[in-house]
Amino acid sequence: MAAMDRIRNIVILTGAGISAESGIDTFRGGGGLWEQHRVEDVATPEAFARDPELVLRFYDMRREAIQTKQPNPAHFALARLDAEWPGELLIVTQNVDDLHERAGAKRVLHMHGEHLNAWCTWCDVRSSWRGPLLNRPPCPACGARALRPDVVWFGEMPYRMDEIYAALRGCDMFVSIGTSGAVYPAAGFVRDARELGARTLELNLEHSEGSAWFDESRLGPAGELVPAWVAEMLL
Ligand SMILES: [Zn+2]
Repeated sequence: MAAMDRIRNIVILTGAGISAESGIDTFRGGGGLWEQHRVEDVATPEAFARDPELVLRFYDMRREAIQTKQPNPAHFALARLDAEWPGELLIVTQNVDDLHERAGAKRVLHMHGEHLNAWCTWCDVRSSWRGPLLNRPPCPACGARALRPDVVWFGEMPYRMDEIYAALRGCDMFVSIGTSGAVYPAAGFVRDARELGARTLELNLEHSEGSAWFDESRLGPAGELVPAWVAEMLL
């Protein structure tokens, strides 16, 4: 119970690195190309306005791909921590896949949205969605053919920031897993947590742009580091 004596409330930020170990390629990383398009050119509101078919095809492909992937030991370890940790805990994920949920985690917040949701820009309702959007299917709620991927694009505001900052204000420990530390606002979470006195830990494949802000950085695959850290926390 050593860890629990000092730490009650935990915020965990997860990024592309944790999904990469399940075979999901990095979405927001630098230099990614998709059929000669930069990812930024298929992941902005302007791109969707200019060439909706291109954008919808891109997301249909990604939505289909993630459904063939499986959670890895890092996802399962976080789900175990979520189930057994007696204090507050929030997994804030930048990932738009559902691997945390499929591993069994409950306290998950998708700040960049979810591939398996469609968002109706006519009635603002979000519907669970597993098939394609390219054929412009009607919104289950209102019938309008105005569904778009429920994914936060470059230049759009991440979701539920108030909840995230409230959790950061109340946390004793902030843990960042598999993130580059390059994309704001998430890259700033460690500074906010640290300034408020939280212990800060980074679990990453390599040093990130934000490494200097962490009390401790452990380098290696998430599938090894995360289960080891969770075991320490639940000792
Ligand atoms: Zn609708």
